[in-house]
Amino acid sequence: MTGPCMLYCGRAAVPLQWVGSVKAPTRTGAILTGDLYACADCLPHLGVMVERHVQERDLKALTAR
Ligand SMILES: [Zn+2]
Repeated sequence: MTGPCMLYCGRAAVPLQWVGSVKAPTRTGAILTGDLYACADCLPHLGVMVERHVQERDLKALTAR
């Protein structure tokens, strides 16, 4: 599938990979449930942030005992 990357690069027509479901606010304030697609260049950047988030979450879970 080719289309606009929904992450960082802003390119309009790139090969896309499905990232997951998202709930996002629209301009009217309504919350829309949809799908997030991103290109191969942006996905590793997302991966770094997800990895960080998971590590912090797990660390908090461990230290909360
Ligand atoms: Zn991209």
